[in-house]
Amino acid sequence: MSSAHVVHKKGSLMEEMLDQRHLTVQKCYQCGKCSAGCPVSEDMDYPPSVIMRLVQTESKANEDKALRSMTTWLCVTCETCATRCPMEIDIPGVMDFLRERSLQKGITNPGAKNIISFHKSFLDSIKQTGRLFELGLVAEYKLRSLQMGQDVNLVPSMLSRGKLHFIPEVIKGRKNMLSIFKKTLKKGGKK
Ligand code: SF4
Ligand code: SF4
Repeated sequence: MSSAHVVHKKGSLMEEMLDQRHLTVQKCYQCGKCSAGCPVSEDMDYPPSVIMRLVQTESKANEDKALRSMTTWLCVTCETCATRCPMEIDIPGVMDFLRERSLQKGITNPGAKNIISFHKSFLDSIKQTGRLFELGLVAEYKLRSLQMGQDVNLVPSMLSRGKLHFIPEVIKGRKNMLSIFKKTLKKGGKK
């Protein structure tokens, strides 16, 4: 089915995904190959194929289920599903879109609180320097999640092995990188 012939409900997630990211959820015909190959589908509340179906219905109730799911936060972007999909749908891209949209709308799964803290801390670290600054990431994650004591016993051995640095390394093209962040946030409708 050609995406050019499909009329989407105005403002639906499926329409936004197609317009903003060229994600072709409408092509999914529920073969289930993505769910069968996903290494974490057993821990998900909805396997990837069901997420696709929820989005396809273009019903607000089902869209909210997809946005509130744990699935999107458990997805590790391994791309196994995308390589198995006969319709060549970018399923990890769909998961990424749903993660960002759920944050924008404030519809997130309470069980994903710590994963979301890590996600935000990771992005902040990249935004500030263009590279991952591990010590900054850990500090921000602990403040956000209040998991102050977690894994603290690993710090001395990581320091002695040079895995943690005290000074962040800033990339040369930081301005270009910031404009990518700006464009992406604009596309997603964030202020
Ligand atoms: S990219 Fe995500 S949804 Fe796809 S197989 Fe990997 S973990 Fe599962
Ligand atoms: S593999 Fe592709 S077509 Fe099959 S259910 Fe998953 S997304 Fe749909």
